[in-house]
Amino acid sequence: MTRMTPLLERNEQFARTYTPVALGPPTAQVLIVTCLDHRVDPAIIFGLRLGEAVVIRNAGGRVTQAVIDDIAYLAYLAGQLFGEQVFADSLFEVAVVHHTQCGTGFLADPSFRHQAAEATGLAEAALEASAVADPHITVKTDVERLLTSPLLSPKVSVSGHVYDIATGRVTTTLDARHP
Ligand SMILES: [Zn+2]
Repeated sequence: MTRMTPLLERNEQFARTYTPVALGPPTAQVLIVTCLDHRVDPAIIFGLRLGEAVVIRNAGGRVTQAVIDDIAYLAYLAGQLFGEQVFADSLFEVAVVHHTQCGTGFLADPSFRHQAAEATGLAEAALEASAVADPHITVKTDVERLLTSPLLSPKVSVSGHVYDIATGRVTTTLDARHP
């Protein structure tokens, strides 16, 4: 008996009616970058089904170098596997989704950040870079960061959105555009 036991029971239910999804491009042609917060589950918020969208999650949903690297690789892979026959000039849209009440917001406070760095051994600069105090501001920063990265495929577009924890509503801050 572990804490996973009830979840594994749910998986058993899931597997009973499961139909495997063939390897292919995400059918919604969307890649979502968002926070790891358990209240911000893209599958539930956007009603995603299996095979529809790639999801990358980290603290804050920030566009870090690791996220940029993953997107660059996925764009290459999608081009190699499904490229010309499926997509003329657009592989997928990267939707950066930041949210209100983000736990990383505390890191905008210098003394909290300093304490967190001391206690965890993490670099203060890295903690500062992950802070989402105002999601409307950080989502714009991160969309720009991705669009100006030399690693971003010109076949990938990027958009920015904010999820409001209080209402469950997602609003678009920046419409999709190519680098
Ligand atoms: Zn968050």
